[in-house]
Amino acid sequence: MAGDGIDAAFEDEVEPTVTIGEYLDGIEAEELEADLVLGGDDGNECTYGAGYLKRQAVFSCLTCVPDGVAGVCTACCLACHDGHEVVELWTKRNFRCDCGNSKFGGHLCKLSPEKDPENPANSYNQNFKGSYCTCSRPYPDPEAKEQVEMIQCCICEDWFHEDHIGLDSLEKIPKDEEGEPLYEEFICHQCSPVCYFLKLYPDMIWASSNQSVSEAVTADSNGMEGGSSGHVDTEKNENGAPVDHRSIENTSVEENCTKDIEASDKSILGDNSGGNCKIGVDINTTSADSEKIMPLFMSKGWRETLCKCGTCTNFYAQRGIAHLTDKEDSIEEYEKIAKQKREKKLEQQEGAEANFINSLDHVQKIEILSGINDMKNEFQSFMESFDPSKTVTSDDVQSIFKNLARKKQRLS
Ligand SMILES: [Zn+2]
Ligand SMILES: [Zn+2]
Ligand SMILES: [Zn+2]
Ligand SMILES: [Zn+2]
Ligand SMILES: [Zn+2]
Ligand SMILES: [Zn+2]
Repeated sequence: MAGDGIDAAFEDEVEPTVTIGEYLDGIEAEELEADLVLGGDDGNECTYGAGYLKRQAVFSCLTCVPDGVAGVCTACCLACHDGHEVVELWTKRNFRCDCGNSKFGGHLCKLSPEKDPENPANSYNQNFKGSYCTCSRPYPDPEAKEQVEMIQCCICEDWFHEDHIGLDSLEKIPKDEEGEPLYEEFICHQCSPVCYFLKLYPDMIWASSNQSVSEAVTADSNGMEGGSSGHVDTEKNENGAPVDHRSIENTSVEENCTKDIEASDKSILGDNSGGNCKIGVDINTTSADSEKIMPLFMSKGWRETLCKCGTCTNFYAQRGIAHLTDKEDSIEEYEKIAKQKREKKLEQQEGAEANFINSLDHVQKIEILSGINDMKNEFQSFMESFDPSKTVTSDDVQSIFKNLARKKQRLS
């Protein structure tokens, strides 16, 4: 009976199977991911004082503001909403911390209590209530059989399931053989009408033109493109690759402008300092009336090709998409800065460790080094005696430390 008890106890143990190497890699990857979302912010200070940040990690506390019309910064999430029901929103653009303002019904901010009653330029989509996508489901979704990753629209910043973005086939999402996205950014079908002017740009801005040529042609010849417009999808661009119009189906603007675009292709790739409009037609004369509503998949660096002339800049501002020409708005740039900050932080940590060692006297140094050596030896003998097919448990780790402690006692 006692034996049964032990077996049962072991069966109850559901520790995940990992090797120590995998475990350490996992911690490293998790830290990197956290640092990327936090943008290198160490989360000690409320960001309110810095005003509307171009991009930052934002959290919504449903305990304090159940209707989800407020957001707080990382530091506030940790210091002021510990233990609350918090929705993690990844990053949002142009946001200022609301913690403790008039929306919080008397719950004060511990870090930066002096705040205006509201931040009028903040916008709050359904994500702040913990709902995502056109289906308005939570993430993770307790009713879903498996949690699928969602993709974020770079205009509305909502997150979408790939099968809820108005495509008749998931094959139309540009991905490589491993299923990794071939696109840099995604514009959802709800936001794409605002961006219909993009069809005035050369095909290099579409991620879909990176897709294998035969794939695109097959899809088109199968009639999957809903070819009622009768528009041919087999035109060639100057490299001889078929032009993929799957995301820019409407032809009314295109027919007027195709020539201009081809003629100005090279100038579009060139510098943008001349003050002339890159697209060669007045952006305001474009119309989205008959636009087939489709999500758009953008190529790497597409934002840099956007015209920044006065007319186009006004156009973006009127439609609330001025952020597209701001380099610091992109997730790519945000993550780049986060990585730089992280590297600096790691360097400083290494420096601090070296300084610590250097500040010790000779005897202390020897003691620490011999301690490290004992640890190494103990670890090594554990690894050698350990059955590699078995999982390392917390008991195993504890026994390493017990052995170390025993050795210390013997030595002293
Ligand atoms: Zn804050
Ligand atoms: Zn709270
Ligand atoms: Zn706070
Ligand atoms: Zn959905
Ligand atoms: Zn959108
Ligand atoms: Zn322009």
